[in-house]
Amino acid sequence: MTFQSISIFRDKCLLNGKWCDSKEKMPVYNPSSQKVIAQVPSMGASETKQAIRDATQAFSTWKQTSPMHRAKLLSEWHRLILDAKSSLAYIMSVEQGKPLAEASAEIDYAASYVLWFAEEAMRVQGEVLSSANPHQRLIVTRSPVGVCAAITPWNFPAAMITRKVAPALASGCTMLVKPAQQTPLTALALGELATQAGFPAGVLQIITGEAKDIGEEMTSNPQVRKLSFTGSTKIGSLLMSQCAHDVKKISLELGGNAPFIVFNNSDVSVAVEELMKAKFRNAGQTCISPNRVYVQSGVKDAFTQSLIKAITELKLGDGLEPETTIGPLIDEAAVQKVIHHIENAKALGASVLCGGNRPLADGNWFEPTLLDNVPPNALCVVEETFGPVVPLVTFDSEQEVIHLANDTPFGLAAYLFSSDIHQVERITNEIDSGMIGINTGVISAANAPFGGVKASGLGREGAHTGIEEYLEMKYQCYGFKA
Ligand code: ADP
Repeated sequence: MTFQSISIFRDKCLLNGKWCDSKEKMPVYNPSSQKVIAQVPSMGASETKQAIRDATQAFSTWKQTSPMHRAKLLSEWHRLILDAKSSLAYIMSVEQGKPLAEASAEIDYAASYVLWFAEEAMRVQGEVLSSANPHQRLIVTRSPVGVCAAITPWNFPAAMITRKVAPALASGCTMLVKPAQQTPLTALALGELATQAGFPAGVLQIITGEAKDIGEEMTSNPQVRKLSFTGSTKIGSLLMSQCAHDVKKISLELGGNAPFIVFNNSDVSVAVEELMKAKFRNAGQTCISPNRVYVQSGVKDAFTQSLIKAITELKLGDGLEPETTIGPLIDEAAVQKVIHHIENAKALGASVLCGGNRPLADGNWFEPTLLDNVPPNALCVVEETFGPVVPLVTFDSEQEVIHLANDTPFGLAAYLFSSDIHQVERITNEIDSGMIGINTGVISAANAPFGGVKASGLGREGAHTGIEEYLEMKYQCYGFKA
């Protein structure tokens, strides 16, 4: 397969129903080869302003459409995404690096949000409230927020878009998306499929270009009423402050620092199997990736031996190679961060049990790595490594591990492995986290609320609450004569 042979491949921006180019271009790289694979337009503030104007115009009619109509178009988009799964997965694997099987699974996951919100579109309801005054009737209706903007990251080039676009369009909002500069091609192909599904011009627009300029226009333009962002806490809090001046609605899904806790009474083989899935998916570049692994002393040896075996069986390689189970990191900066975290841990007394090297002098490759005896102040425990590194920390008591788990500004995901239901209840009550996996490492689903607490963000995506983020409540109080 090549990009030229893929009918949905697009390297222009989708603006007001047209594929638009610009003189300035931005290169897109293959993280395996580090070669330029495409050029996309580098647009800025003036194109963003025009797109917002067009989104505002489109909103005036889109908001009038029936929920059934919007559900029908979303269902069609869902069908087209699944039909184009192999093309989308190929584009994603080439621009992002993840193994083809993982890319394909992400397309299923991305599509599941579209289906979910197609159905949720029809379940947006109001309320009639009882009143203390017999001459009043109190009614609450829900209406779309208005023009929305989304800024998305490179680690899930499809799902991070559908998770925001589908509820926005389902509720009657219009949306302008700026995908990450590393992975615009999957986004643009999804835009082509949305066009084929029949969404009118301006309802969904996709712009590529200068993040800062586009972000500043999105956040300062009063016609945009909501921003949804997934990315780093640093940029999330910057965008939040930019949104403050005209009090836009905002959803933020930011960094994590997920603890993975294994108790003595757990099934060690299950814990290892689930850690492998949660940690090494996307080479550790997921915001819910376990960042630090706490193992109770009684199972430490058994857990460690089994984990070394599983890690050394991983096959590092190009995402398109069929035997690859772990791909490259996204760029050189990501590799440098991993190296820095490992060197820091070693300097603080940690030992490398497997991996620890960059296998080639160039390329964004890094071996899956296991570190032991990692102290609590090591960078790989304190910060999100976003790479294929597992730092092991041994603990003895519940109180100790609860303290360690919560000793972070973040609170996105946590995992715990225990066969004692009382212990599970105690720990889940104590851990500050938006999501908790109990005896499982795979927690995301379209019908579940995804999001964090503390510096990990605001709001939830997915679930029946996901559409609420795109709706405003309007309370109407009717007075009538007796
Ligand atoms: P990462 O470091 O993982 O790339 P970022 O938070 O920098 O995470 O990026 C997430 C998204 O935010 C990307 O689409 C990126 O282009 C965008 N972005 C980065 N800086 C800014 C900015 N100053 N304003 C708006 N968007 C930004």
